[in-house]
Amino acid sequence: MARRGLLIILSSPSGAGKTTLARRLMGWDPDLSFSISATTRPPRPGEEDGVHYHFLTEKDFRQQVADEQMLEHAHVFGNHYGSPAGPVREAINAGRDVLFDVDWQGAQQIRNSELGKHTLSIFILPPTIDELRRRLIERGQDEDKVIAKRMQKSWDEISHWDSYDYVLVNDDLDESEEKLRTIVSAERMRRAQQPDLAAHVRALHDQFREKEVR
Ligand code: ADP
Ligand code: 5GP
Repeated sequence: MARRGLLIILSSPSGAGKTTLARRLMGWDPDLSFSISATTRPPRPGEEDGVHYHFLTEKDFRQQVADEQMLEHAHVFGNHYGSPAGPVREAINAGRDVLFDVDWQGAQQIRNSELGKHTLSIFILPPTIDELRRRLIERGQDEDKVIAKRMQKSWDEISHWDSYDYVLVNDDLDESEEKLRTIVSAERMRRAQQPDLAAHVRALHDQFREKEVR
C-alpha cells in the first residue's frame, strides 16, 4: 500500500546531538531526505552551500519569505533560518519522509502548516547541563564566546520540550538511535500516512456484503 511521507522534526538545545542522530537515521534509511535550510549566517569552515545550508543574503532571504517559498522561518542566534517549502512538498507527496533540524519556532510553524497532520516532532535533551557544555567544547566548532552564547540560549530552547510528540534523553548514542528508529517505524503506520486505507476498507466492505450477507 502507498504511504505519504512524514515531516520528522528534530529539535534540541545546540550540542545535545540532533545532527549526529539525524545523520545516523539517514544512514539507517537512505530514502529519508534532509530538508536543507536557508540561512543568512555565514558558512562555518567545511560547510558547503547547497549541502549543509543554502547560504543567502538577507535581501534574498526576505524575498523568498515574501514570495511564500518558506514552509517556516525564524530568527535564531541573530540570523535568519528557514525551510524551503518546494522540496518538502515534493518528497512528502512521493511518499518520502523529510527530516528537519529546526528550532522550536520552526517546529511550531510546521505543525500549524497545511502539512501539520503529517508531522512527527522529537525533542532531544542532554543528560546534564555539564555534558551539554562538554559536547559543545568537544565538537570544537565554536569559539568560547559562541559556546557561552549557545549555553545561555539552551534553556530557552529546552523550555519548549512539552510541545513535542516525543522527548529523548540522548545519553547513550546507540540507544538513542535505536529509540529513534522505533519511533519513526511506528509513526509511518499512522492512519494519516496511509492514503489507500479508505479504499482498502471499502473493498473489504464490498467483499463482506457479497459473501456474508445473503
Ligand atoms: P547538535 O546538532 O544538537 O548541536 P551535535 O550532533 O553536533 O549536536 O553533537 C554535539 C557533539 O556531541 C558532537 O561532537 C557529537 O559527536 C557529540 N555527541 C552527540 N551525541 C552524543 C552522545 N550520546 N554521547 C556523547 N557524545 C555525543
Ligand atoms: P546552526 O547555526 O548551529 O547550524 O543552527 C542554529 C539553530 O538554528 C539550531 O537550533 C537549528 O535547529 C536552527 N535551525 C537550522 N535551520 C533552521 C530552519 O530552517 N528553521 C528554523 N526555525 N531553525 C533552524
